Amino acid sequence: MYTDPIRVLLIEDDLGDADLITEFLDFIKSTPFQITHHRCLQEVLQPRDQDAYDVILLDLSLPDSFGLETVEQVYNQFPTIPIVILSGLEDESLATIAVQKGAQDYLVKGDFDSNLLVRSIRYGIERAKTIQLLNQKEQQLQQANEQLEHRVAERTSELQQANDQLRTLESQLRLALAQEQELSHFKSRIISTVSHEYRTPLTTINSSAEILERYLHKLDAEKQRKHFQRIQLSVKHLTALVEDVLFINKAELEKVEFNPEPIYLVSFFEEIVEGLQITVDEKHQLFFTHHGSCECANLDPKLLRQMITNLLSNAIKYSPQGGKITLNLSCEENQVVFQVQDKGIGIPQADQAKLFESFSRAGNVGTIAGTGLGLSIVKKCVDLHGGEITVKSEVGFGTTFTVTLPLIK
Ligand code: ATP
Ligand code: MG
Repeated sequence: MYTDPIRVLLIEDDLGDADLITEFLDFIKSTPFQITHHRCLQEVLQPRDQDAYDVILLDLSLPDSFGLETVEQVYNQFPTIPIVILSGLEDESLATIAVQKGAQDYLVKGDFDSNLLVRSIRYGIERAKTIQLLNQKEQQLQQANEQLEHRVAERTSELQQANDQLRTLESQLRLALAQEQELSHFKSRIISTVSHEYRTPLTTINSSAEILERYLHKLDAEKQRKHFQRIQLSVKHLTALVEDVLFINKAELEKVEFNPEPIYLVSFFEEIVEGLQITVDEKHQLFFTHHGSCECANLDPKLLRQMITNLLSNAIKYSPQGGKITLNLSCEENQVVFQVQDKGIGIPQADQAKLFESFSRAGNVGTIAGTGLGLSIVKKCVDLHGGEITVKSEVGFGTTFTVTLPLIK
């Protein structure tokens, strides 16, 4: 039992048919109907409230529209209101297409009575409600689906991020482990090299001290002086060794400071060359040349001294037959370049790649003593200056090390 009136939009150009339909509807006392009548399509195709009607009764042949086109236009205007077609034609295929285009039912004029019309209206309304409900449910489902997809995408990206973080952490751990292993390898190399290198000077000190203790009264002044000198030289050697190890350890921990200050390069280089010349025998002749304006360069004196002394000491040590050793200094506008050149034993090509690594020694050193730390110290000092070191060498002919340091203004 309907209490509220059913609001009917009747679109019918034939006044006789319209009256008949109105009568049919009035005849049903159990249901009140509120009818709005229009005679052509244009009158109803105005923007209006979608809730203004409960059902549309539509004649297919109107003065301004005909057939299925009428259904389409009305459906587009009122997509949620059920449409019942009232046609003068009994055409099954037209009825089917009309229903496909959005109509709820299709009645042929003259073939229906009051009851059939009202039943069709009620079914139409109920079906439209069901369809609306289904549409709502579908929409809700779609929304839920979209939310779910959104959440899945969010979760996936969170997982991806977590995964990336884990990967980064893993590679950091691996790196730390590798560094740790390298450090422990480095430490064991220090211990084995130092203990080996310590033995010779310690033996020398021990034997000279023993000779001096036992035979002091039998030795003339010259021999005594020789033994004292040997002890002093060995102590110096041991001190240098300890200093090298300390420096390289500090450098590995990146704790070596870089303190540039203005240096007058020519006298700085000359003083080092002269100091070394005194300690070597006459077989080795050190030559120093310079060109360019070397008035004042901003470099770290401690690190620069390490570079020059290590390279010159190597040139001396690895030229056992003696020979000319030259140190060339060239001062340019933005950089300082110096070269240490000798005519010594040279370095085999295969050993050159690892030359600047700690404890690395070439295969042709024979009995020449060394720890393999000197060049790695030089390299660290060059790096701290932001410079470069290169080597050119041929076994049996000699070696040239070239250091290029940029000038800090
Ligand atoms: P130390 O730590 O006492 O200096 P070292 O001289 O063996 O020991 P580095 O100065 O680091 O160590 O040199 C590494 C290696 O490079 C040397 O062992 C040697 O094989 C080679 N080398 C360096 N300079 C020369 C050179 N001027 N001529 C030939 N070989 C050289
Ligand atoms: Mg050396």
